[in-house]
This record gives sequence, C-alpha cells and structure tokens, in this order.
Amino acid sequence: MPSIYVTRKIPDAGVKMLQEKGYEVDVSEKDGVLTRDELIEALKQKEYDAVLCLLTDKIDGEVFDAAPKAKVFANYAVGFDNVNLLDAKERGVVVSNTPGVLTNTVAEHTFTLMLAIAHRVAEADRFTRAGKYIGWAPELLLGNDVSGKVLGVLGAGRIGSRVAHHALNGFDMKVLYYDIKRNEDFEKETGAEFRESLEDVLREADFVTTHVPLLDSTRHLINKEKLSLMKSTAYLVNTSRGPVIDEKALVEALKNKTIKGAAIDVFEEEPKLAPGLAELPNIIITPHIASGTEETRSAMAELAAENIIAVLEGKNAPNAIS
Ligand code: NAD
Repeated sequence: MPSIYVTRKIPDAGVKMLQEKGYEVDVSEKDGVLTRDELIEALKQKEYDAVLCLLTDKIDGEVFDAAPKAKVFANYAVGFDNVNLLDAKERGVVVSNTPGVLTNTVAEHTFTLMLAIAHRVAEADRFTRAGKYIGWAPELLLGNDVSGKVLGVLGAGRIGSRVAHHALNGFDMKVLYYDIKRNEDFEKETGAEFRESLEDVLREADFVTTHVPLLDSTRHLINKEKLSLMKSTAYLVNTSRGPVIDEKALVEALKNKTIKGAAIDVFEEEPKLAPGLAELPNIIITPHIASGTEETRSAMAELAAENIIAVLEGKNAPNAIS
C-alpha cells in the first residue's frame, strides 16, 4: 500500500481522497511549520511514495534524498519558489502545484485590499474602535475612488487577468499591464493596454498590483527607484510573493509619501515584517491569506491529492512543473 507524507494539517478533502484510494496517509502532528531537521527526520521514518508539501517547506536535494522512494512532491500552492526544481529533475522526482483553483480567490483578495486601502477601511476600523468617532464630519478619513482609475497589472497570468476582469467589469477601470510575454487574449477580454516597460506602467497607474512569480528576475522588481516613478497619489498592492518588493524601500516610500499607500499579503521574510512597516497608517497587511477561503483551500487540497494519485497510478501529473 503506498504511503504519503503530508507536512502539515490541511483541509480534510485532500487527505480523504488519498485514503479512499487505500493509501496510508501520515500528517505531521506539529502545530506549525516543521523545521528542516524535523522534515528530514519525518521523511526518513518510512519509505514514502509521495509527499504533499507546503510553500513554507524548503524542498531541495537533501529533502528529496530523505524520501528516496517518493516519486512526487505535490506543492500545496501555485507558487513553487520554495522547491529546487533542478534538484527534483536530477532525481527524477515530479513536482506539482495547484494552479487555477485559487485564481478567483486571490483576485478577490487583491480587490479587497485595493478597495480597503483606498477607502481607508482598516484605519477607519481602528479609529472607531478607539472611541474617536464623535459624529459625522465632511472631511473625516477621506479616501479615494477606485472606479474609473488606471490599474497597472504586473504579470498578466491567471490571477493578473482575473484582477483585470474585475477592474474592467466591476469598476470601469482602465487597465495597463506589463509582462515578459504579451497576452493578446487578455487584451481582448479586458481592453488592457500593453506597455513595453514596467516603468511606463508605474508612471501611469493609480493602482499597481503585482502578480508575477518569484524568480531571480522578479526579486525586488519594485525597489526604491521603481517606487519613485509611481504617482504620489498611487497605491501599491502585492499578493504575489514578498521579495518581489524591496520591503525596506516600501517602508521609506510610505513614510516619505513617495506613494500614498500600500496593501500587502506577503512579506520579504515571512513571517517577519520589515522594521517600521507595522507602525505605518497607510498600509494594510494581511498574513498570506489571499487564497485562504474554505472553498479554495479544500480545492487546493483536492488538486494536490489528484496530482499524487495520477503519479502513483503511473499517469502524468496534471499540474507537473518538473
Ligand atoms: P501565472 O504563471 O499564471 O502568471 C504569472 C505571470 O507573470 C505570467 O504571465 C508571466 O509571464 C509573468 N511574468 C513572469 N516573469 C515576469 C517578469 N519578470 N515581469 C513581468 N511579468 C512576468 O501565475 P498565477 O497563477 O497568476 O500566480 C501568480 C503568482 O501569485 C504565483 O507565482 C504566486 O507566487 C502568487 N500567489 C500568491 C498567493 C497568496 O496567497 N498570496 C496565492 C496564489 C498565488
């Protein structure tokens, strides 16, 4: 009977699918992320045939070698910057991810952040709870409209496209985008205009939203210099990966009012925040929950399980990335 190791408790749906196949499933009992040593030790306990891992697990050669029989590592995320694909390839291990099932939810969260920062929702909530509200006032906590503004999308893949769809259909926004690949379907669907350079999008947009994967080429894609190109009235939203933005430069830009505000779901050194970030009033911070709805986290668990089942049945993993 094949045995599977799951590195942390995930919604039941995926584990159930694996158990219904008759597989033996061991789920880490630790209430938190396994340290590297704990992960390696856990994988050595049995001859596991597959591993379901999380974006918080660093998966490289040493980890693959701790589970030498494992044919597949199914990553419970669409991003896979936590996995060394070269090491996987060298060992003939399939790595899969969970694209598509989280697109809508992450796009919704992106819009939630965009609306919330423009309407100062978190700040207003803190203000009201602190008993500072003494009655309606014409200029109390004035924010900005989102409707009709210019949205700059960086990375017009699945999530970027869905965000652009909402921008156009829900908020009559004009959409600009920058991507290493021009996406003409996306342009047709959203009326989005392609810009040859990231800099042009930054100069023109009222809201900038990042949806690129974390790669060497996208690390600090937004740095001090890029932030200085943005309008002083503009907002920056990041639901991609923390290191895409130089967080220290962001703190400075928010302090100096180089840009008006930001809303981020991901941080450069999770779970730590850059010094000064949490004290700023003009940023909204959520703890990497952009895909975190009951529906989506279950769908991700099922998709990860599907990939494991396919490989163990000798088929191609539907979402293989290596
Ligand atoms: P995708 O692969 O469909 O889209 C990524 C797009 O970025 C592609 O169009 C690609 O061409 C483009 N791109 C790559 N390098 C670029 C560069 N240097 N400059 C500009 N564009 C570039 O991926 P997706 O499903 O839309 O997901 C995007 C990312 O969102 C994931 O890689 C993941 O890191 C992140 N994500 C975060 C959460 C969260 O919980 N916060 C959830 C899901 C996904």
